[in-house]
Amino acid sequence: MTGAKPGDALLEATVQRLFERGVQIEEIAALTHFLQSDYIDNLTKEECVESVYHVLAKREVQHAVLTGIELDVLAEQGKLSHPLQGIIERDESLYGVDEILALSILNVYGTISYTNYGYIDKVKHGILQRLNDKSSGEVHAFLDDLVAAIAAAASSRIAHRRGEKER
Ligand code: MG
Repeated sequence: MTGAKPGDALLEATVQRLFERGVQIEEIAALTHFLQSDYIDNLTKEECVESVYHVLAKREVQHAVLTGIELDVLAEQGKLSHPLQGIIERDESLYGVDEILALSILNVYGTISYTNYGYIDKVKHGILQRLNDKSSGEVHAFLDDLVAAIAAAASSRIAHRRGEKER
């Protein structure tokens, strides 16, 4: 698996779980590229993929992704208890725990990631549009925020690293 250190079972499980839910690393990297390409000269897709993998290598991030996806899947299968089942299934707008979980990813990377997250969450670029399509019958109450946060964190990481290089 690209980017995964051999033996890093939790990273592999996280990437696999994202894939099972229809999200490929390249699609998250495309969001990162969208967020940062206006600010960074010659930003490549490969650099964005690498940065996404760095974000996914963090334990906090893996735990957030695995937890959120698990709740989405259980809601999709109708296996949660009332009233949480209905709240997550309908992705109720007043339910904010999905965003809180996403913040645990952004916390690792600081303020640039917060603004990037807010922006990408609003414009629903790329894969985020599909994840927000409620007509599919799939539940992605958590996944859309997690994917946006990973992309924003990867984007913030690139900004910091390139900033260091240019100084
Ligand atoms: Mg959500």
